[in-house]
Amino acid sequence: MQLKYSALFQQQCFINGEWLSIGGEKEVITNPSNGEVIGHVPVMGANAATQCVDAAHQAFEQWRQTTANHRADILRKWYELMVEHSDDLATILTLEQGKPFAEAKGEIAYAASFVQWYSEEARRAYGEIMPSHRPHSKIVVTKQPIGVVAAITPWNFPAAMITRKAAPAIAAGCAMVLKPAPETPFTALALAKLAEDAGMPKGLFNVITGDAIAIGSVFTTDKRVRKVSFTGSTHVGKILMNQSASTIKKMALELGGNAPFIVFDDADIDAAVEGAMIAKFRNAGQTCVCANRIFVHDAVYDEFANKLAKKVSALKVGDGFADQVVIGPLINAGAVAKVQAHVSDALEKGAKALCGRLADKGQLFVEPFVLTEMDDEMLAANEETFGPVAPLFRFYDETEVLERANNTESGLAAYIYTRSLGRAWRVADALEVGMVGINEGLISTAAAPFGGIKESGLGREGSHHGMDEFLEMKYMLMGGLDQ
Ligand code: NAP
Repeated sequence: MQLKYSALFQQQCFINGEWLSIGGEKEVITNPSNGEVIGHVPVMGANAATQCVDAAHQAFEQWRQTTANHRADILRKWYELMVEHSDDLATILTLEQGKPFAEAKGEIAYAASFVQWYSEEARRAYGEIMPSHRPHSKIVVTKQPIGVVAAITPWNFPAAMITRKAAPAIAAGCAMVLKPAPETPFTALALAKLAEDAGMPKGLFNVITGDAIAIGSVFTTDKRVRKVSFTGSTHVGKILMNQSASTIKKMALELGGNAPFIVFDDADIDAAVEGAMIAKFRNAGQTCVCANRIFVHDAVYDEFANKLAKKVSALKVGDGFADQVVIGPLINAGAVAKVQAHVSDALEKGAKALCGRLADKGQLFVEPFVLTEMDDEMLAANEETFGPVAPLFRFYDETEVLERANNTESGLAAYIYTRSLGRAWRVADALEVGMVGINEGLISTAAAPFGGIKESGLGREGSHHGMDEFLEMKYMLMGGLDQ
């Protein structure tokens, strides 16, 4: 691995400000593009997880006393280091995750934007003074950091899913223990190295790799952990929520989606095709806000399908470091098998493929698909495909499409393309989701509250709402003010 700053490649965990390997067992981390070994990380368990919580708890007691200005300065430094080392961070990210290098650089910029945003937001954890219900008194509301936060993150955005949690937590005055996804630990450890370089005190930000179940059970049952913030599947989210019930932890759950992407007959079709390309094929279709069901009005169905297929057929698939590649490998064989199952099921039930080719045996590269004549009974309509497959469903009117779009347990993102202002408002209001792109295919930004409803989760990340997730309100009734 060619890095300008070689210390960014760490193969040990970061606990209480030290780089450690406890126990001898190691996990091998491979490049999804070619199966080559990138390096190893320690397999840690419950004892090391408790050590992380000990360290974070101690660090929290000091950190909560610091001024907002001090926290802002440290976060600003972390942000600047991420920008300075963005080529190296993107190299590590592409190696372990597979996404094309340009896209990995985009993710690092996006990840850094949360650190920048919350370095500024740190100074704005304002309280309130309210008119009291009693004479000679005031109601005062202050905001205090919640305490030790445990974070568990997925492999699809190995940098951004971490900073979206860590930056607001640290800005608020909390300390963090993090378990990154086992597929992508090196990006997390590189971020920890830069946190160390930025001057974060020991124990404030700890990264542990290893046994998810053992570490997760410490995170969810240790009384000193006051909040669990998880991004990943709905299935695991439910397990963690159950486990956290015994100590009534505050939860943030950013879970799976099944986003409808609706193209009305009055839409700008070229813009809708562009939007679908971004909403569907970013990160090879492995995003929680991916367009999973593309509903197209009958009157524009053929035009949209043909224009989309033309663009999709031109997408170059390959190793993330190769020239002009825009679709990298999927993360692992399980991801390829899921795509295969969804495509085969659709074709068996009457769908047609305008383009696309499944991965060769033993490979993780899928040539992106456009499937037409989909129906709501097919697997791809009911589960996240999490791969480069664009399934097109035909619809005839607004009421019908709304009912179909909402017919899912997920409620993360939705997209609509229309030129009618009235329809845009009507449909956006009625969609059962946390986020709607209206004539836009890319909605994620540090400036906006990201999150879902229904089984897509709890809480929001980004914007000032993302900071409130790590703060508790304390109400004080101040009486005797006539004395
Ligand atoms: P996942 O299987 O739920 O895993 C996520 C993380 O949870 C991994 O680090 C995993 O570690 C850990 N984990 C699994 N079982 C655990 C347990 N019992 N206790 C503690 N930790 C446990 O999800 P994924 O496949 O990595 O990620 C894809 C999913 O994330 C998709 O559903 C996607 O929609 C969702 N996602 C949501 C958002 C959002 O903001 N809503 C953003 C990105 C991704 P191990 O692998 O070691 O088990």
